[in-house]
Amino acid sequence: MEKQIPELDERAISRAIITRYHQDLLSLLEFDVAVVGAGPSGLSAAFYLARDGFRTVVFERRLSVGGGMWGGAMMFNRIVFQEAARGVFEEVGIRFEEFEPGYYTAHAVEAVAGFTYAACRAGALIMNLVTVEDVVLREEVVAGLVLNWTAVGMAGLHIDPLAVRCRCVLDATGHDAQVVRILAEKDGVALRVPGGGVRGERSLWAEIGERQILEHTGEVYPGLYVAGMAANAVAGGYRMGPVFGGMVLSGRKVAGQIAEALRSTV
Ligand SMILES: Cc1cc2nc3c(=O)[nH]c(=O)nc-3n(C[C@H](O)[C@H](O)[C@H](O)COP(=O)(O)OP(=O)(O)OC[C@H]3O[C@@H](n4cnc5c(N)ncnc54)[C@H](O)[C@@H]3O)c2cc1C
Repeated sequence: MEKQIPELDERAISRAIITRYHQDLLSLLEFDVAVVGAGPSGLSAAFYLARDGFRTVVFERRLSVGGGMWGGAMMFNRIVFQEAARGVFEEVGIRFEEFEPGYYTAHAVEAVAGFTYAACRAGALIMNLVTVEDVVLREEVVAGLVLNWTAVGMAGLHIDPLAVRCRCVLDATGHDAQVVRILAEKDGVALRVPGGGVRGERSLWAEIGERQILEHTGEVYPGLYVAGMAANAVAGGYRMGPVFGGMVLSGRKVAGQIAEALRSTV
């Protein structure tokens, strides 16, 4: 018998959106890893973590994901990366070309789409338009996040946020290192970096900056990790200019560190 296709009903459309979104909201009351920021480091970390079976949620304050990837450099929308990062682009499935020995280029928009699609297909949930405004503490451990709609902040509305719990948090918020700064400023805690506080990034030195970003990737406080530009901003490393290899390698590295830590505490 031929299946009867009902007429489009506006109420059904609304019910589908509301139901599915609320199912997602309820599912993130408690999960494994919160990634704050959907730039290259956050998306690559989310891809590897979700692929490893960890319940991963990415919070992005903007409407669009991709962070600083879209515009390449000075609005020339091409991504450059070095030999060491080739394997990440291959695993994620982004097309690229060799430019000179050891230097590769990809289209910035394809890179955003590719990392986003790979993270989603691996099982990560992306919540855009949500700003992380604080962390949840349990004793001396970061154990969750405090969230609000970005629009609430933009409108200056006096509305309380909601809190969710997770096993650890990754700050991948780029130059601002927002989550680490909030913790350091509000709670006055000593971070696991020289000097114990957020040092702020230094001026540009590509070679050293790319190396430092990997050295600085890791846990800076119990339950709180940093990756990408945030790692150099926290530890006082050099900025590296428009080369994206360090960002995605940092995402892959922190995913491995988090996976190892979570497996050892099961
Ligand atoms: C002004 C500027 C300077 C740059 N300088 C450099 C440089 O020196 N070296 C270099 O390599 N690249 C630089 N870039 C290029 C590029 O931004 C970065 O290399 C790369 O995008 C950083 O990747 P990331 O993953 O660390 O963070 P980003 O790509 O910056 O992504 C961070 C994401 O976190 C989100 N976010 C921030 N705070 C919150 C919050 N509280 N809650 C939820 N989401 C949040 C942001 O909206 C953003 O999408 C620069 C870009 C800009 C715009």
